[in-house]
Amino acid sequence: MKLIFLGPPGAGKGTQAAGVSAHLRVPHISTGDMFRSAIKNATPVGLEAKRYLDAGELVPDSVVIDMVRERLSMADCQNGYLLDGFPRTVEQAVALDDISVPEAVVDIQVPDERLMDRLTGRRICEKCSGTFHISKLSDPTICPVCGGRVYQRNDDQPETIMTRLHAYHAQTEPLIGYYSGQDKLSRPGENRLKVVDGDRRPEDVFRAILSALE
Ligand code: AMP
Repeated sequence: MKLIFLGPPGAGKGTQAAGVSAHLRVPHISTGDMFRSAIKNATPVGLEAKRYLDAGELVPDSVVIDMVRERLSMADCQNGYLLDGFPRTVEQAVALDDISVPEAVVDIQVPDERLMDRLTGRRICEKCSGTFHISKLSDPTICPVCGGRVYQRNDDQPETIMTRLHAYHAQTEPLIGYYSGQDKLSRPGENRLKVVDGDRRPEDVFRAILSALE
């Protein structure tokens, strides 16, 4: 199955993508994770992407599209994939349809007023990559699952979050029209969009996604 998870920052795409990709046995490809790893390893892509991630802005389409094209050509993606955080612009979506046509697009919807609290309170375990809200941690520095140290992403600061939400509404939200077949660039007659309410318990969102994909 070739799948995309769409939704604003803080909608729970990463958490849900981890569960759904394990369930469907397809690789979970997060462009945000790829950029963070490239920055950590100081690769040419990382050096170019850093200032955009720090500012909460989108990395230029050509850089992201080349990175995803290379990743999707790898052997593990030949029977399917789950893309989390890509595409984020109509230009990226059109390029993806040229590389490998996704069959379904899950749009996880959460109202803006819930996202700020979710993102400012988000903590990530450096050992198991689990994501938690700070209000759910008995020790705000320790992962309740594996005991690893938890950290806060650099871009989970209020000002950067505002920039990311703005980028989502201006550049990514138009993909809803693209994938439901209503954009002038849409593939004719195709509605690949499945809308899921993400403003509830993670296990309920997970069940809703699987039933939308049936
Ligand atoms: P995420 O982990 O998905 O929230 O992504 C973190 C940051 O990586 C974003 O704020 C962008 O700067 C960059 N990024 C990730 N995916 C894309 C994409 N598809 N297009 C442009 N920038 C991206």
